[in-house]
Amino acid sequence: MTTPVEAEAQDAGVVPPPPTSPARVLATREPAAVPQAATGLNLQGLSKTFTLGRKQVQALAPTDLGTAQGTFLSLLGPSGCGKSTVLRILAGLEEPTSGTALINGMSTGETQREHHLGIAFQDAALLPWRTVESNIRVPLEVAGIRPEPGLVEDLIALVGLQGFEKAKPAQLSGGMRQRVAIARCLVVKPSVMLLDEPFGALDDMTRQRLNVELLRIWTEKPATTLMVTHGIAEAVFLSDVVAVMSPRPGRVVEVVTIDLPRPRTPDMMRTPEFHAYHDRLSEVLFGRGGEAAE
Ligand code: ADP
Ligand code: MG
Repeated sequence: MTTPVEAEAQDAGVVPPPPTSPARVLATREPAAVPQAATGLNLQGLSKTFTLGRKQVQALAPTDLGTAQGTFLSLLGPSGCGKSTVLRILAGLEEPTSGTALINGMSTGETQREHHLGIAFQDAALLPWRTVESNIRVPLEVAGIRPEPGLVEDLIALVGLQGFEKAKPAQLSGGMRQRVAIARCLVVKPSVMLLDEPFGALDDMTRQRLNVELLRIWTEKPATTLMVTHGIAEAVFLSDVVAVMSPRPGRVVEVVTIDLPRPRTPDMMRTPEFHAYHDRLSEVLFGRGGEAAE
């Protein structure tokens, strides 16, 4: 049975729809088969083919990818290369055609049931009839968890929305709506975060500011994170690891470890080391001498 609040949250994309048959492929792998090192994200042979009428679209070629628990990984690539498909499979919103996906040693279904998962999309997908406060509380209501006293207030302060607790989404700017989405993602204190271009629709200045805030929040409690982006600078700034994807069919063409010290500060973006990573990733994406899209 889907409760009204679950249905609301499913409409908003906050939680996935209930499992459908056939049984989820994600949960079938025996834990013993997982390599020790990939304790965070662990994708093995993960692929997705969509059927459009008689046409088959291979959105994702069989993909292996692994990180350690608590790693911030970005999937970087041009539009249509399958980034969101990976994320949507991990979020339980899409069934893989083949392969397995584990995060922190759990299937995504388990992660969700244990309420360890925080999700935010490009479009904040807030419920228009609920206030800021009430939108942030949705995942807790779905989980049937009473918020600790002060938690929602703390999150509102963390994302800089004091004074807007009672505002409705229509009364907020795009940047403010995304802050609400990030606060909502954090309200379950996630050990896994899935972020699909969370600030992609915003202007560069707002985006950079929110990236700095996201990083500060993540540093306090490093969740195993997968962020989808097409911004090279943003990927380097935030990530421990950047996986570069190429389209048709979508596949990971290079995995680059970003060995910049933490805590990261915006002035690091002007260092030669930062530029070297930026150049390297541009080269993988666009070829030597290619035009960077940023
Ligand atoms: P990205 O997030 O990198 O822009 P997506 O993962 O959204 O890319 O899409 C990858 C490919 O899969 C695209 O060619 C897209 O058109 C196709 N695709 C995505 N979702 C569906 C769907 N539900 N039905 C059919 N094709 C889809
Ligand atoms: Mg996408």
